[in-house]
Amino acid sequence: MMDKLQAIVSKLKNKEYTFKKDEIDPFCTDWRGKYHGQAKLVIFPQTLDNLISVVKKCNKYSIKIVPQGGNTSLVGGAVPIRDNYEVILSLKKFDKIMKFDPINSSIQLEAGCILENIQNFVQKKGFYFPLSMGSRGICQIGGNISTNAGGLNVIKYGNIRSNILGLEAVTGDGNLFSDLKEVKKNNTGYDLKHLLVGSEGTLGIITKVNFKLFPLPRDKRVIFVSFRNLKNLLIFFSKMRDFFNELISSFELINFNSLDLVIKSQKLSKLFKDTEYYALVELSSLTQDESWTSNIEDILYKISDLCNEIIISKSIQENKNLWDYREMIPIAERKIHSCIKHDISVPLSNMEKFISSTEKSIKSLDKSFAVINFGHLGDNNLHYNVYSKESSNNDKLIKMSKKISDIVFEHVEMLGGSFSAEHGIGQQRRKELLKFKDRDEVARMQKIKKIFDPNGILNPGKVF
Ligand code: FAD
Repeated sequence: MMDKLQAIVSKLKNKEYTFKKDEIDPFCTDWRGKYHGQAKLVIFPQTLDNLISVVKKCNKYSIKIVPQGGNTSLVGGAVPIRDNYEVILSLKKFDKIMKFDPINSSIQLEAGCILENIQNFVQKKGFYFPLSMGSRGICQIGGNISTNAGGLNVIKYGNIRSNILGLEAVTGDGNLFSDLKEVKKNNTGYDLKHLLVGSEGTLGIITKVNFKLFPLPRDKRVIFVSFRNLKNLLIFFSKMRDFFNELISSFELINFNSLDLVIKSQKLSKLFKDTEYYALVELSSLTQDESWTSNIEDILYKISDLCNEIIISKSIQENKNLWDYREMIPIAERKIHSCIKHDISVPLSNMEKFISSTEKSIKSLDKSFAVINFGHLGDNNLHYNVYSKESSNNDKLIKMSKKISDIVFEHVEMLGGSFSAEHGIGQQRRKELLKFKDRDEVARMQKIKKIFDPNGILNPGKVF
């Protein structure tokens, strides 16, 4: 085995791989610390030729590869499976911004570029990068593409798929897939690059991308609102959409338990009197003038009957302070001993029914079970996480985790939603894929996998 691994890296520079256990270990555990794998070798190639040579040799010696970006996958997608003798292929040294084109309003990036670095670079050039999420300081654009990431701005800019102009990847058999066009229109048969988007490292290793850029908003306002009930929040959403339409760049829902958790664990100050629901809305404008602020205030006044309390930010710092209440929820959740997590979507027209009927069924298992419910409501997407308010019931919660997830997913299915809205399948949702996805569709996916990765060396045990 070690001979084969040595042969795989024989042409690489020393700094392009490691066999050292202490250097390898951090690559083997996911961000949540839930999935732990094993590997004897981590490779971080610096050139496309070296990456191709690694994939070809892995084919020759039947060694499996786990592509890894920032390793922030919340479904165990980027870590090896224990005792499976996989090598980790990290894209961290593929981190160059290749080309910035202000006329075409596009950028070419290597797959290992960190999202936040791209955002900052583009902003300095007077443009806006249409993707953002809590993991932006760690996740890589290649990982974002491989998971068809959603994030905080989908309501305005669409998910990542809609902003990709061209893609380059190395397929499972070591061949180059190169479709690095920079045009918006290209109807020349099947658009195969979109098979790689959201393929979670099972079809190819993404190496480069051409991405659309947008005008930089001159002003952003965050509006934080509390509501007596979900009905009012949903009506508020539709009114805001009518009034502000494409100026809405985020619309996030936060329930009481989520806000309470983040305030207590992150020591943030309390903003509202307690109510059941809160919404954090971000408006982005291409102009900056006084009338915009008074316009927002006038419109909010018109629909204020729906709201309990309204906070409107007045500066960039205040925007950030308000966003902290939303963005720190996943960090606060890590401190809860046990939490059964779901990333689901439900049509907005069924959202109220979903939330009330699912919570009722969960509470019928045990009165102490409660829901941390937050997420990108504007995109129908909720993070729906169940925990126990009494720590003595944690064992019961864990024992009932399958039952809890069954309840959540069956309600989602009944109401026309998806069991995985933005995090993908990874290791975590493979059973649900078989249960809820049409069998013929899964069979077609498996046939496509054979075309891109005939020897099945890419990311085994993920998705299927
Ligand atoms: P990794 O975790 O390294 O990999 C993810 C998958 O892609 C794996 O299957 C891996 O094998 C594969 N992969 C990675 N790089 C490549 C490549 N170059 N070529 C081929 N395959 C590759 N997700 C959202 O969609 N929206 C959110 O709002 C959001 N918020 C988050 C907030 C926090 C605090 C955290 C920790 C995570 C959040 N996520 C969110 C999940 C995660 O950040 C995204 O899925 C992200 O796109 C993963 O990027 P990554 O570089 O970390 O990929």
